[in-house]
Amino acid sequence: MLKSPYSGGHLEVIVGPMFSGKSEELIRRVTRALIARQRIAVFKPALDDRYHAAHVASHAGRTIEALAVPDVAAIHAHLSGQGELLSAAPEGLDVIGIDEAQFFGPELVPLVLDLADAGVRVILGGLDLDFRAEPFGLMPELLARAESVDKLTAICTVCGAPATRTQRLIGGHPARFDDPVVLVGAQESYEARCRVHHEVER
Ligand code: ADP
Repeated sequence: MLKSPYSGGHLEVIVGPMFSGKSEELIRRVTRALIARQRIAVFKPALDDRYHAAHVASHAGRTIEALAVPDVAAIHAHLSGQGELLSAAPEGLDVIGIDEAQFFGPELVPLVLDLADAGVRVILGGLDLDFRAEPFGLMPELLARAESVDKLTAICTVCGAPATRTQRLIGGHPARFDDPVVLVGAQESYEARCRVHHEVER
């Protein structure tokens, strides 16, 4: 049975700003694979340093089960059978999904390439750009190496045009360029914006 347009393992990357439907699309692809009884493992970055059962959730409310992991080494450990919450054996794994891929370190790249080389369908979702509209961490490398790239857009909250960027607001005002990419404990919020209406304080 044809599982995908590709004959073997491969890398699919889904990018775009916040609210563009990356998680929705990852959930859609994983759900179809589940219906086809394929063996699937889904990961997302944990905010703390522990493994735990979690969900990938879209802003519209759909969810699928996932394992939250502190780092790439934890994904590796899980797949090689050393993880605390081992459920899927790595041999015979058909599909691996990873959401919020931008938060992992560059060591995710060789891991997913090895999996694709070994015949696994790898589906990654993540932000291509940070709040400053600069390329986000390891994402350019993943985009370059992927067989398939889908760059989704949201709707600009100012004008309704296709939004390609994520606006960070601190207390209702545009964040500063030199703010850290990952903010901890700040009163921040995010909106989808187009190029014209995306603002960064310099
Ligand atoms: P992402 O993973 O890219 O952040 P999600 O899949 O979690 O996106 O959420 C997409 C959903 O977000 C849309 O289906 C819609 O319900 C909601 N949404 C909220 N704000 C916007 C916006 N400005 N543009 C488009 N969708 C939005």
